[in-house]
Amino acid sequence: MAQNSARNVGRHFLQIPGPTPIPDRVLRAMDTPIIDHRGPEFAKLAKRALEAIKTIFKTTNPVIIYTATGTGAWEGALVNTLSPGDRVLMVETGQFAALWKKMAERIGLKPEFITSDWRQGADAKAIEAKLREDKGKEIKAVCVLHNETSTGALTPIAEIRKAIDAAGHPALFMVDTISSLASADYRHDEWGVDVSVGGAQKGLMLPPGMSFNAISDKAIAANKTAMLPRSFFAWDDMLAMNKIGFFPYTPATQMLHGLVTGVEMLHEEGLDNVFARHERLAEATRRAVAAWGLENLNKNAKQYSPTITAILLPEGHDADKFRGLALETFNIAYGASFGAYSGKYFRIGHLGDINDGTLIGALGITEMALGLAGIPHKKGGVQAAMDYIASVHAGPKRAAAE
Ligand SMILES: *Cc1c(COP(=O)(O)O)cnc(C)c1O
Repeated sequence: MAQNSARNVGRHFLQIPGPTPIPDRVLRAMDTPIIDHRGPEFAKLAKRALEAIKTIFKTTNPVIIYTATGTGAWEGALVNTLSPGDRVLMVETGQFAALWKKMAERIGLKPEFITSDWRQGADAKAIEAKLREDKGKEIKAVCVLHNETSTGALTPIAEIRKAIDAAGHPALFMVDTISSLASADYRHDEWGVDVSVGGAQKGLMLPPGMSFNAISDKAIAANKTAMLPRSFFAWDDMLAMNKIGFFPYTPATQMLHGLVTGVEMLHEEGLDNVFARHERLAEATRRAVAAWGLENLNKNAKQYSPTITAILLPEGHDADKFRGLALETFNIAYGASFGAYSGKYFRIGHLGDINDGTLIGALGITEMALGLAGIPHKKGGVQAAMDYIASVHAGPKRAAAE
């Protein structure tokens, strides 16, 4: 690249749907001396962190904090509540759903997969139909992704709860909210979720390496009889130690400092404002995509993700090459594509510590990069995004986003 000046100057544009950029205030909160994880100062920190995370899941029950990435919390959800050979109903919304299903198979469960074309979220009616067919109530859990990060589809969790209730089915309800927690509204208790799986490095604006299980009373009861082997991920050891402010093993002390500060920042902004900001940035991105004349991978407008938009390139254009060119020239990282669509789309993450200006910068880079890569598109995507964002700020605070 003859004119390459971007690599080492200014901020890197980390537009992947996690890990997301970490606010300086969170970095500073983590930049403290290590303390004794069995000492009194630690117990105060742990209790603050354990209380703080409950407000994000909107639950009054304890939340398990794992020193593991989101994948670990997926495993925690399954091994703590289920037994070998149990049937679980899962929905193929995309790559992450496929990975969770693969995990279920590996640990000895029998997942049944409701397949899809990866261009929408989960369908409540299809879940209800499967549960109605299950006269013997053999399905022990329904597992759904709130936000499918690989395709940009958000499933309304309250509707899935209603579908399970309409079928009169006793299965546990497990929801992966890793890439929507603290970016889209989420209500563990109100929506009757039994295990919610969260991660640190997306909407919570923390480094990777911490994840969560929010749990219901029904999940805690299931834990007593669940026979899948578990050790590191066992809830009972964790709950017993957490009660006195400790962990069964050395937790990620610095991450707990970061978590307390991250949650504090979210509440200072106000959770509803956080969600409105994500909706605004997502809609602005979609308007840019439409103005460019490009296609959103997600075809269901009722299930657009507030945190990530997947953009299909016209036939014959390689999305991975496009991402490479944009990184090399403009120092921006986009999310990759998966499965049958490998090389056909790229993803813009718009979640976490991101504001209107950052997004407009990222969309400006994208429009330039589309031109440089010779990808057919119309001009004016950035203008459309700017017009939309300005209109939202001009109107009553949230009106235009709704
Ligand atoms: C990121 C992500 C995961 C995987 O989390 P890791 O932290 O990479 O283990 C699982 N599910 C969803 C929806 C995700 O976005």
